[in-house]
Amino acid sequence: MAYLDNAATTPMYPEAVAAMTNLLAQPGNPSSLHASGRRARRLVEESREKVAKALGSRSAEVVFTAGGTEANNIAVKGIAWDQRKKEPQRTRIIAGSTEHHAILDPVEWLVESEGFSVTWVKSDTYGLITPDALREAIGPDSSDVAVITIMLANNEVGTVNDIIALTAVAREHGIRFHTDAVQAPAWLELNFSDLGVCAMTVSAHKVGGPHGIGALVISRDCHVTPLIHGGGQERDVRSGTLDTPAIVSFATALEISKARRTETVARVRIMRDDLVRRVQEIAPEAIYNGSIESRLVNNAHFTFPGCLGDSLLMLLDAQGVECSVGSACNAGVPQPSHVLLAMGADRDAARSTLRFTLGHSTTQADVDALIVALPSAIERAKRAGMPTLTSAPVRV
Ligand code: PLP
Repeated sequence: MAYLDNAATTPMYPEAVAAMTNLLAQPGNPSSLHASGRRARRLVEESREKVAKALGSRSAEVVFTAGGTEANNIAVKGIAWDQRKKEPQRTRIIAGSTEHHAILDPVEWLVESEGFSVTWVKSDTYGLITPDALREAIGPDSSDVAVITIMLANNEVGTVNDIIALTAVAREHGIRFHTDAVQAPAWLELNFSDLGVCAMTVSAHKVGGPHGIGALVISRDCHVTPLIHGGGQERDVRSGTLDTPAIVSFATALEISKARRTETVARVRIMRDDLVRRVQEIAPEAIYNGSIESRLVNNAHFTFPGCLGDSLLMLLDAQGVECSVGSACNAGVPQPSHVLLAMGADRDAARSTLRFTLGHSTTQADVDALIVALPSAIERAKRAGMPTLTSAPVRV
């Protein structure tokens, strides 16, 4: 099996598996006062320090969550509610048009159910959100803006936004800025303190750690109205008993990923570039989407004209090659990718995409397997053609 879907999830490092499994049978709630509780607390706090060190933040700024989706929800809803509570005119959210659904959906919920409005920041044709586009979205009057949220690296096309330049614009207006950095830490050096954001989302299973654990890195002066009320285990931001084995495993994975990043990036870049070149030889009509310069090193994203992405995916899967389309299904009919639509692609092109994402465990044999399987998959997908689109609304 050739696994080329590391943006969806990446295999755990063996050290992260060991760190987790060693702790699973041990009792100890980090909030308990007895020896087992204190031992668990020490492990959690040591892990918090490791996570902070890997992300360039202070330990006190790391809030453990049950993954990236929860961290995004806490940030967007929590900051928006808090800002509106303090200044009731702040009812507008500004969000990137290429965000993951873990941002799009909370934002849309705030609009539909909580009386907020949204301005989507336009993307350029490479999936990049520029400072000028952000300025345009803010408009002449920023006094109604509660929060800006723009992702660091796009999960579909791998485009990396210049968050420092974007937060400089937000700072001119004194607006709080959150970034979804879930796709970034495996590939980029992140320094929370330098980014200028007040909150940043990360997730363990994208860096060789376990599922269901992540963090919201949030500065001490950035207040949120909590989503979940309870024991207040993570400051006043999040409640719920901390998952010590998962937290220790997450910290182990982040540490390893950072320590090996230079070597991994160099190795993966060579394989990714080889993949891109050979796909273009097989299918010269394929369009390589996303930015060339400002891109995650593990991402290769193509439009294959006349081929439904889902057909290609299943045909490759049947040959043992696993990848992703990136766009959602609606009533069983594949829908165009909102990211590609935001980048200006037409609806058919936005349904004809495939994303190949490499990871720390990818080998040249995985790339070779794709290159062997791809020609027949393209030929059969072309013959199958493109089914008509449903009229279901598509988010842009
Ligand atoms: N944000 C981005 C950019 C992602 O790629 C993902 C996962 O695919 C998420 C958020 C959600 O993270 P999690 O799976 O940890 O909930």
